[in-house]
Amino acid sequence: MTFREQEAQRAIWDKRYCDASFYELPWGRELIGTQNFKCFKCGSSLIYQMDRLNSGSLAIKGKCLDCREEYTAEATLDMILLGEFGYDRMSSCFSCQRLTFVCAGEVCRCFACGLSLEGTRCSECGEPLVSMYDYVVHPELCEVCL
Ligand SMILES: [Zn+2]
Ligand SMILES: [Zn+2]
Ligand SMILES: [Zn+2]
Repeated sequence: MTFREQEAQRAIWDKRYCDASFYELPWGRELIGTQNFKCFKCGSSLIYQMDRLNSGSLAIKGKCLDCREEYTAEATLDMILLGEFGYDRMSSCFSCQRLTFVCAGEVCRCFACGLSLEGTRCSECGEPLVSMYDYVVHPELCEVCL
């Protein structure tokens, strides 16, 4: 193996090591595995949680393998959700007030407290309820049927 190949191999192992540290979280295997999220300080996608057995979203202690910056649970969630979905898909959660509620495609839930609207449909037209607005204003009717 050339030096360059060794470096490439190591990068793959590093990424796997980091990704696997999130696997105990309820959404760990769904969201992790892309290169989309980036360390706020150095831009690396090698973010891991220090306690690999932790399964609580709000107990995450994040760290960057490259620059060694440490992140709170909120900052780590922010980094991951921003990378995966973008700020226009993130809204404030009705239950925990954090900016961790995401509606995008099949996903419609809070990644901090776990509140989920997935599978909730409007009782009038049968369309899925896709925003926190629907849920807060009238939990059974969508914006169109209100
Ligand atoms: Zn970093
Ligand atoms: Zn929440
Ligand atoms: Zn409707």
